[in-house]
Amino acid sequence: MKLLLWLVVCGFSVLHIKSALAEDGVLVVEYGETFESGSDIHMRYYLVNPEGNHRLLFSDEFMAQNPVHLWSGKRVRVQFKDQPGESGRWTQSIELLEGAQRGGITGAQPWVSILCKFNDVPAEPENFSFFQNMYANLPAGLDHYWREVSYENINVVGSLAVDWVDLPGTHTFYVPTPGSGTDANLNSLFDDCTDAADPFVDFSSGFVGINMMFNELLDCCAWGGGLGATLDGLFRSWRVTWNPPWSFANEGVIAHEMGHGFGLPHANNSDGDGNPYDSPWDVMSSATGRAVDDPVYGRLGKHINMQYKYRLGWVNDGDGFIADALTDTVIVIDQTALAATINHRFARLPLADGSHYMVEVRKQVGNYESNLAGEAVIIHHVVSGRSEPPWVIDQDVPPADFSDNEGVMWKVGETFNDPIDGYTVEVLSETTDGFEVRITGSDLIFADGFN
Ligand SMILES: [Zn+2]
Repeated sequence: MKLLLWLVVCGFSVLHIKSALAEDGVLVVEYGETFESGSDIHMRYYLVNPEGNHRLLFSDEFMAQNPVHLWSGKRVRVQFKDQPGESGRWTQSIELLEGAQRGGITGAQPWVSILCKFNDVPAEPENFSFFQNMYANLPAGLDHYWREVSYENINVVGSLAVDWVDLPGTHTFYVPTPGSGTDANLNSLFDDCTDAADPFVDFSSGFVGINMMFNELLDCCAWGGGLGATLDGLFRSWRVTWNPPWSFANEGVIAHEMGHGFGLPHANNSDGDGNPYDSPWDVMSSATGRAVDDPVYGRLGKHINMQYKYRLGWVNDGDGFIADALTDTVIVIDQTALAATINHRFARLPLADGSHYMVEVRKQVGNYESNLAGEAVIIHHVVSGRSEPPWVIDQDVPPADFSDNEGVMWKVGETFNDPIDGYTVEVLSETTDGFEVRITGSDLIFADGFN
C-alpha cells in the first residue's frame, strides 16, 4: 500500500512537471540581415503566447530533425527541456497544432507603418506621404504588389502610416553599436515606438502587422518576424519589421521583411555558400537583385517562388500539374505574374526521398518582373526541412555565385535531367505567356530503354 501510494504521488508529480514544461503558442522566426554578400544572417526563434515571447534554443541535432522553418507562423506545442535560462529555453520537441500544413494567409492584411525618431536624431529621411503612399493600390505600391503576387488572395487594404513620433530614448540607448553587432533592443524599440504612436492609431482595429521605420541605423541589420504584445487591449502575435533608413530606401527590402512577417523563410540558389541572398528570382532571396527600379521607392519587390505561393495557399494542386513516375505529358506553364490562366501555373515533381521539384515560368513583364535576368523555365528543388527550402537549380558547374546566369534558365531546346529520380523536363517551345514543356517520369525512361 505504501509502495502504491508512492507510485501515485510520483506519477502525479511527473505529470505536473511535464505540463509545466509544455506551452502552446505561435512559432515566430525573427531574421536579422544586411543583404550583403558574405554577411552573417541572424535567426532567433520564439514561442509567442499571452504569457510572453519565449526565446527557443535548438540543438543542431534538433534543427536537423524538425522542420522548424516550415512551421514558422503556425500554432505549435513546445515541450521544453528545462526552465527558462538567461538566453532562452532548450526545446525538447515541437508539435504542429493546426491540421493544415499550408495556407492561412488570405484576405485583407492591413499593416501600420510607424515612423520613429531617436530623441537625439532630428532627421526625417522620408516624409509622411512617402510612407502612406507606399501602401497604395497603384504600380509600385505594396497593396498593388501583394495583390499581384498572391493572385488577389491577399491585399493590404486598410494599411496606413503614422507620422514621425519621438522615442523617449537616445539612439545609443536602444542601439549601443549602430551599424554593427546584434545588440539593438528590439523589444524596447517595439514597446516605445508603438507607445509613442498609440494616440494616433487604434491597434485593435484589425491590423495584422507593424512596420517600424527608424530615422537612423539599427545594429547590423534590418529585422523581420514577429512579436507577441497587447496593444489597445488586444493581444496578438503581431507581424513586425524593424527598418533602418537603408531598408525603406528599397521597397523590395520592405516586401522581403513583410514576407518574413507572413512566416516565409528565405529562398536560395544552389551554390552551397550559406548566403541566402543570391537568387535574383525571388524577393525572399535577393530582395533587390534584378529588380525593377522605381524613381520613388527604389528597387521594388519581385515575385516569390511558386513553392511559397503554394505554402501560403495562393495556388493549389488544381493550378498545377502533379507528375509521377509514369508521367509522359506535354503542358503549357504560364509566367508567374499572369493574373489568371487556363494553363498551368507550375508542375510539381515528387521525389522518392520526400523532396520535390517545383517548375515555374518567369518572363520580363509588368511592374515587378521586367528587369529579371531572362525569360525561362525556372526549377527549384524543395527540401522542406532545411532553413531555405527552395533552391533554384543551376546546370552550370560549379553553380554561379549569383544566379542571374544561363545555367538556371531552361530555354527552348534545353532539357533538365533530374539526377535524383530520373525525371526529364524538356522545353519545347515558347508561347506568348509561357513555355510548352514535356515532362517524363523515371519509370518511362527505364521502360523505353533510354537509360
Ligand atoms: Zn530575410
